[in-house]
Amino acid sequence: MFAGLTVDGTTVNSLDEDSTIKLIFDADTEFRCSACGADLAETPGGFDDDNGDNECPAYQSDEPDADGTGPHTPERVALSWCNSAGIRTDETDDAITLSLSTGDPCGAFTITIRRVPDDADSPLAGRLLLHLPYPDQPMPHDQLHPLHPGTFVIGRPAPATRAHLTAA
Ligand SMILES: [Zn+2]
Repeated sequence: MFAGLTVDGTTVNSLDEDSTIKLIFDADTEFRCSACGADLAETPGGFDDDNGDNECPAYQSDEPDADGTGPHTPERVALSWCNSAGIRTDETDDAITLSLSTGDPCGAFTITIRRVPDDADSPLAGRLLLHLPYPDQPMPHDQLHPLHPGTFVIGRPAPATRAHLTAA
């Protein structure tokens, strides 16, 4: 095997044996205040900043005679759902696996393409097989609920109506 590793189109390395490439995300902060920029933690009563305060210093009131105080405005931090994304090559198995970890950081959803060996006693000898995560898989990374062909809702089943971004 020989493969070039590129980052944003620039070759940074070449690989000549089995490799595991991984992007590791800082998934500690899931929410941030869109008004003041503070990292927020979800609490039973709302969203608190690092000081345990749910009052936002940058709160803008729509009411002219309001006292000017109000809560943080939580928004989800982009890509905070991802622990890691990776590519693993395995020459022995003639396989490449892509992985995306959204739940337990020790595991991941995986997508693998593997070639059945030419000397396999099978009509599939020499053919490529695609392995995907599927609902009710044993030892799943997370539960998958079919939405459309090829699309799944991860975790809890999809609710009937849109969920608003409020504290649990
Ligand atoms: Zn704020």
